[in-house]
Amino acid sequence: MSKFIFITGGVVSALGKGVATASIGFLLKRRGYNVVPLKFDPYLNVDPGTMSPFQHGEVFVTDDGAETDLDLGHYERFLDISLSRKNNVTAGQVYYTIIENEREGKYLGKTVQVVPHLTDEIKRRVLLLEEDGADIVLVEIGGTVGDIESLPFLEAARQLRLERGPSDVLFIHLTLVPYLKSAGELKTKPTQHSVMKLREIGLQPDILISRSEKRLTDEVRKKIALFSNLPEKHVIEAQDVDFIYKIPIVFYNQGLDKLILERLNLAVMPIKMDDWIDFISNYEQRKDEVNLCITGKYVGLKDSYKSIIEALSHAQSSTRTKVNIKFIDAEEIEEKSPSLILSDCDGILVPGGFGKRGIEGKIKAIQYARESGLPFFGICLGMQLATLEFARNIAGLKNAHSTEFDPDTPYPVITILPDKANIKRLGGTLRKGAYIAQLKENTLAHRIYGKIEISERHRHRYEFNPEFMDILEEKGLVFSGISKSGEYVEVIELNNHPFFIGVQFHPEFKSRPLSPHPIFVKFVEAMRVYRYGY
Ligand code: GLN
Repeated sequence: MSKFIFITGGVVSALGKGVATASIGFLLKRRGYNVVPLKFDPYLNVDPGTMSPFQHGEVFVTDDGAETDLDLGHYERFLDISLSRKNNVTAGQVYYTIIENEREGKYLGKTVQVVPHLTDEIKRRVLLLEEDGADIVLVEIGGTVGDIESLPFLEAARQLRLERGPSDVLFIHLTLVPYLKSAGELKTKPTQHSVMKLREIGLQPDILISRSEKRLTDEVRKKIALFSNLPEKHVIEAQDVDFIYKIPIVFYNQGLDKLILERLNLAVMPIKMDDWIDFISNYEQRKDEVNLCITGKYVGLKDSYKSIIEALSHAQSSTRTKVNIKFIDAEEIEEKSPSLILSDCDGILVPGGFGKRGIEGKIKAIQYARESGLPFFGICLGMQLATLEFARNIAGLKNAHSTEFDPDTPYPVITILPDKANIKRLGGTLRKGAYIAQLKENTLAHRIYGKIEISERHRHRYEFNPEFMDILEEKGLVFSGISKSGEYVEVIELNNHPFFIGVQFHPEFKSRPLSPHPIFVKFVEAMRVYRYGY
């Protein structure tokens, strides 16, 4: 039988609930428990992959090809586990199941209702993880208490507590305690209201986590505890930190993990975190600084590139090199000379993306990197554009393009390939999830990975067109990674360049604090060499 922890949020969104959940999961895992996270997203999209990264941040892709909420990335990174579609459920998926069941006549003529049908389906999704053998199922309910959409999820949590009892089901509520500069005070009222709202729905939180830019004074803590109907020691503070990986330590120092385990009647086993603390202290000891330019479409929203930024954090710690990230609007490069805009960069990263905007600017940036010896790392779309740049400027294939952007190009170097391999891509939909690739010996890719066979996650529709392989190879482009099925190009690189690599997959999804992704590590090292010569 599993224990269950539900984490809700109040006052405002974007409080860092995902990181808080991941940090709690980290501590409980380090205490010896098999912790399985689950994110409920109360929006009605069936597939989070269809949402704009502008609105919702990055789409995180799991090994099994599920397009999930970016919080799953936090869970994977903090818990060092690989998740699947079972770990992210949207309200849309839950309603969809109910409506399908109804159409199939599974309700035998009964009136189909939010309670019990919808709430039962929500509970079923939670209990699936119990069946998989979780000691603790850690459920984060997206959104903010008071949202209409999240009500059925909160109601399902309430029912589960009633069914299993208070020592098997725990509620943690995360709120904001704002600091009012003019009054010089931390304000507890929004938190009081948020807890009131929760209690209205029938949920009494067991533990409160208060996010705040200042430390809670004793007086403030007392007040929050009183109004929340909790002992003071159940009010935990989550002061802002400069590095998210410190949050587990902040919680540990306040005894949060012990409190949870005692409350759930679980043994408090010893904890070891030396490796994690080393990871943080290496990060703090970064000395050499390099400037990385990322050409992006979603430059206004850093969450769109969450996993890339985190993968860079991991590499910064392991190399003890500080990477200053500068987002560059690719359209600006279209208008001005790249040497002007990129003059202070020690490396260029062209990330994945969809849509035409900024494409020519990115190609110009890649050309600049190729010609000037600036380290270059292209991910997915970035790799596709690097082959286009090479095709146009070295192989003389004028106007070579991807059929995504120019369906009538004379040289469709990137295109949708007919399906021969056994991949689940029907009618031009995305190729998603983990696939195995084979690297060529004695290439940069092989040196980076130190092995021949690799598995990486994908999310793209277009591929390199093998008809152009011979001509580009003849001109010097190295195809250093090919899918195991033999038909898809996975990695390209250049020989006569210090560091130039493009990958069709998304390596950022697999980087973890304690096992940073080797391409990111070598890329940071190459930038350091570029700037300092060592
Ligand atoms: N738009 C490109 C494709 O669909 C690249 C996708 C990506 O970068 N994730 O193939």
